[in-house]
Amino acid sequence: MGLEDIKLRIAASEKESGRAAGAVTLIAVSKVQPNDRVEAVLNQGQRVFGENKVQEAQGKWPDFRSKFDGVELHLIGPLQSNKVRAAMGIADAIHSVDRPKLAEAIARIAEEEGHCPKLFVQVNTGEEPQKAGVLPAEVDGFVARCRELSLPVVGLMCIPPADEDPSTHFAMLREFAERNGLEGLSMGMSSDFEKAIAFGATHVRVGSAIFGERDYSK
Ligand SMILES: *Cc1c(COP(=O)(O)O)cnc(C)c1O
Repeated sequence: MGLEDIKLRIAASEKESGRAAGAVTLIAVSKVQPNDRVEAVLNQGQRVFGENKVQEAQGKWPDFRSKFDGVELHLIGPLQSNKVRAAMGIADAIHSVDRPKLAEAIARIAEEEGHCPKLFVQVNTGEEPQKAGVLPAEVDGFVARCRELSLPVVGLMCIPPADEDPSTHFAMLREFAERNGLEGLSMGMSSDFEKAIAFGATHVRVGSAIFGERDYSK
């Protein structure tokens, strides 16, 4: 538990899997966490954070950015089309690009604003009806469409089904990325980030193991 422990475990996993030291970026997922916990982790030197809601990110990150240099914010939750401009205004990366309409909206706004966050395409590897992401059979076509739109797609992202061994899903995501010439693999959370690193994760999204359990009652 805690930032230092997670960083040590990431370093050990990199080594064990024959990955270069520092190959994996830790995204500290601060959604729902109280500001004092987030600030404590900023004070420990962490600069890369993840949020899953645009409004929540807008509520806390402008202040933190004014207090701490070098913050990098990743938006990891489902994105509604009407929040795209706000998302692009606050996020350095978006991990949840998952449909043509969204890709087209991002491309249009990128053109207007002259900048675009780094993008990951979310893949619904478990084909779960309640989950966001393009289906495995649609990945190649969707990545091609994003490239037609000149979007800066850097990788793929997945959230494996809660009740399955994530290894199958991590392996699948890696295969899709390789096939499409993408370097980035956003996969692995508190319970499985070490396994994800063994399967080539470049970005792990770790929340509760750093900050403690989220309290949704507040
Ligand atoms: C909340 C969240 C995480 C972090 O989950 P933990 O189990 O707390 O590590 C990772 N990825 C996404 C997309 C999330 O929404």
